[in-house]
Amino acid sequence: MKKLVRGIVEFRRKRDERHRDTFARLALGQSPDCLFISCSDSRVAVNVFASTDPGDLFVIRNVGNMVPPAASSGISISDVSEAAAIEFALTQLTVTHIIVCGHSECGAMAAAYKGREKVLSPNLRAWLGLAEPALAKLKEARFFAPELAPHNRLSQLNVLEQILHLRTYPAVRERLERGELTLHGWWFDIAKADVYAYEEVSAGFVIIDEQEAERILRKFNDWPSSGWLGTGPRPGLRSWLARLPAWSRFDRRS
Ligand SMILES: [Zn+2]
Repeated sequence: MKKLVRGIVEFRRKRDERHRDTFARLALGQSPDCLFISCSDSRVAVNVFASTDPGDLFVIRNVGNMVPPAASSGISISDVSEAAAIEFALTQLTVTHIIVCGHSECGAMAAAYKGREKVLSPNLRAWLGLAEPALAKLKEARFFAPELAPHNRLSQLNVLEQILHLRTYPAVRERLERGELTLHGWWFDIAKADVYAYEEVSAGFVIIDEQEAERILRKFNDWPSSGWLGTGPRPGLRSWLARLPAWSRFDRRS
């Protein structure tokens, strides 16, 4: 906290013309093209690992980068704050990308893996229930990311699960069907300070180096596409997940 307060003074002292121009422009409005959903964990520093500037990202952070799914009415089964932010990002900011970003050594995933019934805090225990479908898939998907520790494998599966939850919202589904939105699954490895992106073709997370970045950017040039986990005919996670017998109770796709 002391660092935070001193940091404000430091920023006031150092801010230059460029900063003033940036914030003066941003005071007139924001137009980020990405909604970034990540864990509240202090180490998930997207402004550092993705070199982002003020105004670049609309952000939702919560414990375990969860997305409570919508009921058939389109209303969130949990409290509506996150759903409201998702709808605002899509309808008002017209973001064209939503990134769900998990990370290694996630305390939420470690707790979910050990069994959320052991968590003493009642709200946290209930919240971790959103990761239960991913936990069920972890037991089935022994071939998925075998090089990782179980809680980190769960963290990656949880990213994919929360993306499925995103698709339960009409505002998300409609834009996917129109080719106006792409969903991305990212995973931040804290120890290596590397970011990975889920790739359908390899059914796994691939490090975002120069080559992978080129591949991702090339995909945008192919728009409109079926998008990540889209409705197109490409085989990928959809079929891979469909092969798993322990299917998510939150998955409301027909
Ligand atoms: Zn976390």
